[in-house]
Amino acid sequence: MSKEKRKVPIVDGLFTWPSDEPRLIGSRCPVCGSVQFPKSNVCNNPDCDHSKEPEQILLSPEGTLYSYTIHRYDLRPPFDYHKAPYAIGAVELPEGIIVVGRLTTTDEEKLKIGMKVRLKVGELYSDGENAYLTYFFEPVEEVRK
Ligand SMILES: [Zn+2]
Repeated sequence: MSKEKRKVPIVDGLFTWPSDEPRLIGSRCPVCGSVQFPKSNVCNNPDCDHSKEPEQILLSPEGTLYSYTIHRYDLRPPFDYHKAPYAIGAVELPEGIIVVGRLTTTDEEKLKIGMKVRLKVGELYSDGENAYLTYFFEPVEEVRK
């Protein structure tokens, strides 16, 4: 009898979980408005006076594919859960930051710079007990006119 694996975020605090509509967790500086991901308790703007600590915010679940690359080799331990081929995308969010993450497809026919992508949480890898989750960006199918 197979046991249901426990679903565990690969790193705590990257995205809201469990959730039907997960969101990336970032931070915004109340002084200068700089947005960061992952969230930080220090503003990264060198021109900021840093008089207040950044506040946690939930980032938009949809963004625009800014750039991407397809990796065609496996990474070495301890990152060997990245099995080739896999795609990494840079996604521009409405908050004005670019977030790097895995894409759900390596099919270049389905990838186009400037296209809409949507956040999705899925399994990165699993062991005997747990399924380890991370965030992905999935192309949003556009209706052809
Ligand atoms: Zn600031």
